[in-house]
Amino acid sequence: MQLRIPGPTPLPDEVLQAMKRQMINHRGPQFAEMFHEVTATLKEMFQTKGDLLILTGSGTGGMEASIVNTLSPGDKVLSLSNGAFGERFADIAEAFGAQVERLRFEWGRAVDPQAVRQALSHDTGIKAVLVTHNETSTGVTNDLASISAVVREFEKLLLVDAISSLGAIDLPVDAWGCDVVITGSQKAWMAPPGLAMVSVSERAWQAHAQARMPRCYWDFARAKRFLEKGQTPWTPALSTIYALAAALELLQREGLKNIVARHARVGAKAREGVKSLGLSLFPEDSYASNTVTAVRAPEGLDVKRLLKSLREEYNTILAGGQQRLEGKIFRIGHLGYVNEDDIEAVLEALRVALPQAGFNG
Ligand SMILES: *Cc1c(COP(=O)(O)O)cnc(C)c1O
Repeated sequence: MQLRIPGPTPLPDEVLQAMKRQMINHRGPQFAEMFHEVTATLKEMFQTKGDLLILTGSGTGGMEASIVNTLSPGDKVLSLSNGAFGERFADIAEAFGAQVERLRFEWGRAVDPQAVRQALSHDTGIKAVLVTHNETSTGVTNDLASISAVVREFEKLLLVDAISSLGAIDLPVDAWGCDVVITGSQKAWMAPPGLAMVSVSERAWQAHAQARMPRCYWDFARAKRFLEKGQTPWTPALSTIYALAAALELLQREGLKNIVARHARVGAKAREGVKSLGLSLFPEDSYASNTVTAVRAPEGLDVKRLLKSLREEYNTILAGGQQRLEGKIFRIGHLGYVNEDDIEAVLEALRVALPQAGFNG
């Protein structure tokens, strides 16, 4: 089966095998050794010398953690949003009492750093900026290098949802001055769902000391205190950590540069492939993502029928559009355990399934 959605993603055999391992004491020395090693490798992948915390929860839990650990009710927050996940980040901040100003961009377009500069010079009371590095709902990778440079100019806190980019698309956390960066185990990491991994900068710790939003399970300080003894405050998703340890071994062997290059090749192949089938991309070309390709549904194409026939007749699982994009786009996930041959297989399936769903190029 070809599972080509933007997470959960398929697992290599070594990772599947690792999950069969018997349970161990999560307060014992074996766990501590594994946990320290996984944490150290993740820091390399995040390109950070700051703190790296592994939390049990999905990516959204990590997003909530980034908010409640750095902000207080009433704090002004600038949300940069160009899709469903950008809106989710803003919704979470709002749920905890932040005063959220939403700087929205058309879905399919990238966040404009110039507009961010304008918004920040306009409202000096803003404390933090929320941004989605790779907007999975529209297949857009925002120009985080430029956005973070602007945010640094104004010395605001920068919280980054990198759930579907980190480990696949270059994101040098320290070099770009990102304060909290979140990813999730089931995306580029070739691991199952269950873990959110977050980096925490010195500036974020200073914000943490002042932050008054309610927090308990997600408290960064508690996680850091336990990490020092090779533990987590609460029972971790142990099997997912076994799997992540095995996946990181593979990823480390490949090397970050090669991983990023592989995703660039695979992304380019997916984009060229769908264009050669007579389809067009949903996002603007220059910001099209290397981890997920969003394809505009042309006149006559029944997306639901296409996804059903791909699933039932060609063993290929693609994703539809979310929220307002339902029926308007479909998405090919290509992150984690993926190479050019996998894309070729998806394109082969599309070539036969598209006409059956009403599209004849
Ligand atoms: C998948 C995803 C999320 C949500 O992660 P969950 O693990 O489903 O909670 C958030 N943001 C982005 C950009 C994602 O791709």
